[in-house]
Amino acid sequence: MQPDEFRKWAVRAAEWGADYREGLRDRPVRAQVRAGAVLDQLAASAPEQGEAMETIFADFERIVPDAMTHWQHPGFFAYFPANAAPVSVVAEHLVNAMAAQCMLWQTSPAATEMEIRVIDWLRQALGLAEGFKGVISDSASSATLAAVLTMREIALGWCGKSEGLAANPAVRVYCSGEVHTSVDRAIWVSGIGEDNLVRIAVTGSRRGMDAAALDAAIVADREAGMLPAGIVASVGGTSIGGTDDIAAVAEVAKRHGLYLHVDAAWAGSAMICPEFRDLWNGIDAADSLVFNPHKWLGAQFDCSVHFLKDPEPLIKTLAYRPEFLKTYGNQLPGNGSGGGEVVNFSEWTVPLGRRFRALKLWFLMRAHGLEDLRNRIRNHVAWSQELCEKFRAETDFEIVTEPVLSLFSFRHVPEGEGDLNRHNLDLVNAINDDGRIYLTQTNVDGKIAIRFQVGQFDVTQEDVTRAFDVICEMARRS
Ligand code: PLP
Repeated sequence: MQPDEFRKWAVRAAEWGADYREGLRDRPVRAQVRAGAVLDQLAASAPEQGEAMETIFADFERIVPDAMTHWQHPGFFAYFPANAAPVSVVAEHLVNAMAAQCMLWQTSPAATEMEIRVIDWLRQALGLAEGFKGVISDSASSATLAAVLTMREIALGWCGKSEGLAANPAVRVYCSGEVHTSVDRAIWVSGIGEDNLVRIAVTGSRRGMDAAALDAAIVADREAGMLPAGIVASVGGTSIGGTDDIAAVAEVAKRHGLYLHVDAAWAGSAMICPEFRDLWNGIDAADSLVFNPHKWLGAQFDCSVHFLKDPEPLIKTLAYRPEFLKTYGNQLPGNGSGGGEVVNFSEWTVPLGRRFRALKLWFLMRAHGLEDLRNRIRNHVAWSQELCEKFRAETDFEIVTEPVLSLFSFRHVPEGEGDLNRHNLDLVNAINDDGRIYLTQTNVDGKIAIRFQVGQFDVTQEDVTRAFDVICEMARRS
């Protein structure tokens, strides 16, 4: 592609994106295509000769948008949001154009230094103690894997990487049943094994780990010759917002010298609002903490921030310095503070290669300001809680789990319905086939419940009210 053509198509793509965003409300939220429909329209093999961009672009418009689920649609109330504020999309256009691989300071100094700065902006915005450092990962799953590997290595005295696990006592990690499946995967990938992920019973409406049971499990494991390594706590779990009492869990971790990682992938964004911070009371005692600005805050996917009280154990676990990755003479000026080695962020994560993810955070926080970002989240929480009360007032609905920030779950309980689980699954499908809004379900102690979270970046109070009307209409349709 010649420079002139590149300019033409880059502008066309950006304009297409702006039109797409403007027209989102006219689209069904969840893709309404049959499985295999896209595959059927794609050539079975790559062309031998290049094709005209007009043709490729026209095919894109014909095949792709209607077969997408529209995560930026204000009728998106499913899963958790994956918000991409327009300003972060603009930043991503720039990142894509530069297309740098930012693994080392010298492979893109601006990427590294901006990452240091925006992480500290976020630390301040979240009210985390001074001293927390951080790195941007692709996903919370990667950050949790890095944290589990770190707790494993600390517990094994740094010999797990060389010896493997077979010759050592069983490494044990503790969590509740409310954590995200990324914890299970981290346990598999780290070689610890699912049998050594100890599920602690939960208590209270927030479904947090019972601290006494956690303590007892650690003591019993030690007595049995096993090696307790760490705890993974949840703040705002995926299913229904399950949240551990971080202060109580941290107390147990401290007593036993265990590493504490906290997964606040979704709820972390809300901690920019001081009034919600009781949800992670005691957080400064965590060793490691992940939250995803690519969920609720508005930074386009992928952008997951991994905070560390002390990055050294993580770096000792993951850094690898073959000659071809060494850099010489990249020292920060020693001006009385901040002298020393530059940061090479690829030593803080499992993948070596890394994108320039800090730019979209810098654009987002500067263009909106923290106050606007806080107000959006405050509105989402308030509108969701109002909606919960509206369902509570209806005799044919019941609240299954109470709101945690902007997430609650409910189900339709019409009189005379024998199989409520089937009925509510059918209702979710009917709502999503209808397309005006998008919802997903979960299972709470055997009950199928419909999750409702408000969090899409541009959602309005009217959108939330409309969602209530759509749900009632679909539920009562005989
Ligand atoms: N933790 C929680 C609480 C989540 O809800 C999710 C995803 O929804 C994850 C972790 C995994 O996030 P990621 O997709 O960034 O790996």
